Amino acid sequence: MACTGGRELHVGMVQVARAAIAGMAVKTPLIASRCLEGTTKQPVFLKLETLQPIGAFKLRGAANALSLLGGDERARGVVCCSTGNHGRAVAFAARRLGMRATVCLSHLVPEVKISAIEALGGTVRRVGQSQDEAQVEADRMVREEGLTDIPPFDHPHVIAGQGTIALEILEDRPDIETILVPLSGGGLIGGIALAAKALKPSIRIIGISMKRGAAMQASLMTGRPVEVEELPTLADSLGGGIGLRNRWTFDLCRNLVDDVVLLDESEIYRGMRVLLLEERLVAEGAAAVGHAALLAGKVKLDGPAAIIVSGQNAPMEQVLAIGRGEPVTLGGLEVKG
Ligand SMILES: *Cc1c(COP(=O)(O)O)cnc(C)c1O
Repeated sequence: MACTGGRELHVGMVQVARAAIAGMAVKTPLIASRCLEGTTKQPVFLKLETLQPIGAFKLRGAANALSLLGGDERARGVVCCSTGNHGRAVAFAARRLGMRATVCLSHLVPEVKISAIEALGGTVRRVGQSQDEAQVEADRMVREEGLTDIPPFDHPHVIAGQGTIALEILEDRPDIETILVPLSGGGLIGGIALAAKALKPSIRIIGISMKRGAAMQASLMTGRPVEVEELPTLADSLGGGIGLRNRWTFDLCRNLVDDVVLLDESEIYRGMRVLLLEERLVAEGAAAVGHAALLAGKVKLDGPAAIIVSGQNAPMEQVLAIGRGEPVTLGGLEVKG
């Protein structure tokens, strides 16, 4: 993999990660979709990362990154500033490994997210009125208190951890020809593409994002990392930029991702609804994009496919409203199916 500094990031690291995370993240089931085959005319399998102990795949990357820290780093502890699944993952893995985890969050982050992280054993430090101010505090703790920052996607150990999903998929179903992957910062798709293509070069890796704030897609089109406006979306776990100084995931996506598909909010709504009512699975918007893309006819399959159902941590009121077919309001935007 010349493109990604092959010595620093290669499939061997994903294989090693699999053993490192085994006590923390679970090997998730790959189950047949109950409803997509009628649309796709091909078998479709669902990789249920919703069943991880924190309800999302991010535990794989965090567990691997933390397990690779040295003794001094472990003793001083780790810090991150994610409001979402990465914050939960770091808190959970740190507690398991006997480390202290601090999650820096702004005063705007709702109380439910704070208590979720605290319940997993993380220490929440509330500072400022924005994510940027929280990041400034995290940077200070790195500088002055010697904590190690654990980034949500742009780190080789995080990427290798997420790549373990591909090893499990191809072990269960070596005949999979396409993997549909929710795409935000690109740690998930980068790790999956790296591992899957090393084992099966002919496999197709398709990234799926929402139209409202698809930072990786905009960067790929421009040829370098660019910023996009962050907007409210049902797929909130796919929000945020890729970092203007991106080191790993932009190149991985540029070199290994075959196609990127963008979705409307109403398509994501329908994906969540079908997951709930027909697959009988609770999935957050970010995790419903594979269903949404296939149902909208935006990805054509010519063989068996796997969808990464990446997480389940949507607000329950949102899931229930979508199940009942009611419109959902997101920062002034009304979404329905
Ligand atoms: C973080 C996340 C993603 C996207 O992962 P990236 O590595 O940022 O591309 C997808 N789904 C869920 C549920 C997530 O938490």
